[in-house]
Amino acid sequence: MTVNGLIDLHTHSTISDGSMTPSELVRHAKSAGLVALALTDHDSVDGVEEALAEGKRIGIEVIPGLEISVDFKPEMHILGYFPEQAYKRIETVLDLLRESRQLRNPRIIDKLNEMGFDITMKEVEAEAGKGIVGRPHIAKVLLAKGYVSSVEDAFDRLLGCGKPAYFKKERLTPEEGIKEILKAGGVPVLAHPIYLGHSLEALDKLLGELAQVGLKGIEAIYVDNTKEETGNLLRLAIKHKLLVTGGSDFHGSYKPDIEIGKGRGNLEVTYDLLKKIKDYM
Ligand code: AMP
Ligand code: ZN
Ligand code: FE
Ligand code: FE
Repeated sequence: MTVNGLIDLHTHSTISDGSMTPSELVRHAKSAGLVALALTDHDSVDGVEEALAEGKRIGIEVIPGLEISVDFKPEMHILGYFPEQAYKRIETVLDLLRESRQLRNPRIIDKLNEMGFDITMKEVEAEAGKGIVGRPHIAKVLLAKGYVSSVEDAFDRLLGCGKPAYFKKERLTPEEGIKEILKAGGVPVLAHPIYLGHSLEALDKLLGELAQVGLKGIEAIYVDNTKEETGNLLRLAIKHKLLVTGGSDFHGSYKPDIEIGKGRGNLEVTYDLLKKIKDYM
């Protein structure tokens, strides 16, 4: 595998809130010229087997992964990357996370109904298909009914943290999330650190604490970062001896302005980063 090829280590399929099936996603990555991608669906590794098979068929490396939300205000997401022979071991904790989704989603729908929006759980489930039901599916139904102008608008006005139809899911603590991924043989990485909304000093301190409980990397290269933020995060990675990962957080039509590998044209993630993660596995 080429050392300098381009990759994407953060993507979603129809198994969670992406719009492409795992196979479509892998073919899309291949036609975008990538040499590797990680599938990182929320709370699920159900798409990994299909993605691995398609990757082998067409010749692109697929890294089994997932993304979990842990208990932290406003939001903290932890990515996990696994060797092929180990990813199924994480499944034992995922049932719990899905249950908490099933408790939360109807509360969001009830609240939206109360606010006068005509939307049902059935419609949202139809939008999600067989996959995990998340807020982006609710946003898409609201969009289809003309209640919001985009998925983003739905989050900004209704579904985002602190907005009227926001309800928290029961989650693992950051430490528990990190430890569960480690226990299953994976590499835990802090996703999109800028979403924590921390100052550089606070992030520095937090990374020290998370590294202490087993965090192995940070997603220093991310679609929504400014150049300056990326520079700061790369420096913090060195300071805390953390691996660096990068990704577009590709969701297909749920985030229509983001392209796999390229993000908004500002992204470049190279294979050497993946090599270091694999050395760790
Ligand atoms: P859930 O797992 O159901 O809590 O939904 C989380 C997902 O919603 C995230 O991973 C993103 O895909 C999406 N999301 C969160 N905040 C926003 C936002 N402000 N705009 C668009 N999508 C968002
Ligand atoms: Zn998502
Ligand atoms: Fe995320
Ligand atoms: Fe994501």
